[in-house]
Amino acid sequence: MDQNSPEVMTALQAGIKASALCEKIRVDLAGKESLLKSDRSPVTIADYGSQAIICKMIREQFPHDAIVAEEDSKELRRPDRSKILEQATSYVNTFIPVSSSEEVCSWIDFGSNSVTDRFWALDPIDGTKGFLRGDQYAIALALIEKGKVTLGVLACPNLYADVHHPLGEKGCLFLALRGKGSFQMDNTGANKRPIFVSKAKSPSEAIITESVEPDHADHLTHQRLAQKLNISKPSLRMDSQAKYGILARGEVTLYLRVPSSADPVYKENIWDHAAGSIIAEEAGGRVTDVLGRPLDFSSGIKMENNRGILVSNGILHEVVLKALEM
Ligand code: AMP
Ligand code: MG
Repeated sequence: MDQNSPEVMTALQAGIKASALCEKIRVDLAGKESLLKSDRSPVTIADYGSQAIICKMIREQFPHDAIVAEEDSKELRRPDRSKILEQATSYVNTFIPVSSSEEVCSWIDFGSNSVTDRFWALDPIDGTKGFLRGDQYAIALALIEKGKVTLGVLACPNLYADVHHPLGEKGCLFLALRGKGSFQMDNTGANKRPIFVSKAKSPSEAIITESVEPDHADHLTHQRLAQKLNISKPSLRMDSQAKYGILARGEVTLYLRVPSSADPVYKENIWDHAAGSIIAEEAGGRVTDVLGRPLDFSSGIKMENNRGILVSNGILHEVVLKALEM
């Protein structure tokens, strides 16, 4: 697969459209005072809208590929959800002409649970809590062939493009192709440039990134590990797979995801790591679980054969794995 292959073109176009849709909904709805914090309707509308657009574009180009995606239209078809469906349809229509709400539901339902020989893994909005808070979230799409991720697109609509200008231009698109490297683009797909992980050789130079949500990762264990490795810089907490993006471009050195004590046997979803992992690897990083095992994307929608996640710049991987044995 090369940069101009239909898979890459379609995945990029789908990511660009879904990213614009999510950001429009976030700006229109999520910031409104009238919406209570617990009102998830903006994320729901964006989740469904994003999945509809991406599934429709993938299915059109690759009718034989399965798409393993987080949502289905069952809830959306309930009579008490008609307003949400109507709003989702109207937002989708701004990006792709759609004839009816029924059609939107049918696009959403191109998604399935079938982990086959060649399939796409999609998280239409990763980091829903970040989306609602106005922080980071991502649209994550990956192609998995014979259990290996071969293409990843990660749209981060609210992520600063340049670490030196955190208040500057926002919206990044990450792309990785197996064997061909990782790239960052603007959220329109322009300005493509290769990205690389940090060259930090000593753990003391490292910066850790971790989830914002304490239920998603064990912050206390991360803190202990940082002490053990003489990591003095504060951890950077960020929602979604945007963490993989900032590691791939060298801004942080380690992404730790030790299962939270709230749910120590939690199994990760494939769509939460497929796109991010290839972006980190192709930028020179290494991705395993916290026991050093490669991520297994072939066991089903849950990564049954893995526990937690460790991402590094490669150089520091073994030393962190060793420290995690504590
Ligand atoms: P993050 O933004 O990195 O905290 O990750 C968001 C993702 O965490 C969501 O897409 C969920 O699928 C996933 N998640 C939900 N519960 C847990 C849990 N107990 N441990 C780890 N991840 C979780
Ligand atoms: Mg997710």
